[in-house]
Amino acid sequence: MRTVEEHLAAILEALPVSAPVRTALDAALGLVVATDVTARVDLPGFDNSSMDGYAVRAESLAGAAPATPVTLTIVGEVAAGSDPDCVVGSGEAARIMTGARVPEGADAVIAVEDTDAAATGVVACAATNVPGQFIRRRGEDVRSGDVVVRAGERVGPRTIALLAASGHAEVSVLPRPHVVILSTGSELVAPGAPLGPGQIHDSNSAMLCAAARLVGASAQIRTAVGDTEAELLGAVEEILGSADVVVTSGGVSMGAYDVVKSALRGEGVDFVSVAMQPGKPQGFGLLPGPDGRQIPFFGLPGNPVSSYVSFEVFVRPALRRLMGLTPESRPRQTAVLATGLRSPQGRRQFARAIVTTEGAGLVARPVEGQGSHFVADLSRANALIIVAETVDRLEAGAEVETILLDD
Ligand code: AMP
Ligand code: MG
Repeated sequence: MRTVEEHLAAILEALPVSAPVRTALDAALGLVVATDVTARVDLPGFDNSSMDGYAVRAESLAGAAPATPVTLTIVGEVAAGSDPDCVVGSGEAARIMTGARVPEGADAVIAVEDTDAAATGVVACAATNVPGQFIRRRGEDVRSGDVVVRAGERVGPRTIALLAASGHAEVSVLPRPHVVILSTGSELVAPGAPLGPGQIHDSNSAMLCAAARLVGASAQIRTAVGDTEAELLGAVEEILGSADVVVTSGGVSMGAYDVVKSALRGEGVDFVSVAMQPGKPQGFGLLPGPDGRQIPFFGLPGNPVSSYVSFEVFVRPALRRLMGLTPESRPRQTAVLATGLRSPQGRRQFARAIVTTEGAGLVARPVEGQGSHFVADLSRANALIIVAETVDRLEAGAEVETILLDD
């Protein structure tokens, strides 16, 4: 049996390196920048006003005060987005709006609040000014040619603002892997469809698809297939035409109809036992895609809890690595166990739990149903308790390590 670390390391080592793509800014959220980006313009691009007011020569306002206002002649008006058509001389003012270009001759702006707000004729100013006041200088934020975003940075809303402001409509990033989810099992019908004898609703497909999207991947569900090698191989063949990553659920254990294992063993997929519970049987390998590309394939076990935990422990880190992110990112927290827990000797248990803050610390309450078919308890849990391979029971009050599941 492999340890969890050995299996994860084998996966991460085998992953192909993603090729960067140019992406529109509004599609780049959460992706990692592939190459340094330089500004195409100065920011600000020109000297402009930070206030609604009047562009003046500071010297024109000498001695101005509420009791002794100074009167200046209005020689023009500049709105944001317009090119000033006036020159401001001594004793003159141009009405100016926030973001508008400062006209020639002016060296400061007096805020409208310090004037009588006249639109034409003369304006009475009740405050003095120093040169440069309320003027945003060209290039004071960014100089054209400066590196504004570095390779390796993750694109967030603020990065997007900077890229847009500095002249970019697109950015080169590591792409979202396109994950195709395929559930296997002759018992499966689509969610909402009527159930025949022995049938169940396919809950893994939608779960895994959602989980992949939460990582930042794009994901799609392929209609589930029954337990025949022909159906499975046909679906995988079709998926390999469009997927960057394939994730199947079911059919990897020791049963008579475990077709994922029987059909793909020897085709580049290894089926291994990992010393963990749930999630012991795992399939992973690279399958040949179009243009000689190698497509990572994950064969996860079918029980919903096993599938979910396997995704968390192996697929999520792999998707993050493909996207240029650190593979593991979940916060790990120490919590006090609320009730005792049993765990299989020799396997690392990922027990589902509800972790809450109590007083100064965290308390972890294992959910009641720890079997790998308990979907309701899985949905109530917000954490996994990690029980070491060497530990077979923990008493209430023990300190345990937990992985908090929700972003
Ligand atoms: P398997 O790994 O194929 O042996 O499946 C193990 C258990 O998980 C069985 O009880 C299956 O019915 C169940 N199962 C398999 N696939 C799914 C699925 N997509 N959604 C819900 N349950 C599933
Ligand atoms: Mg099955």
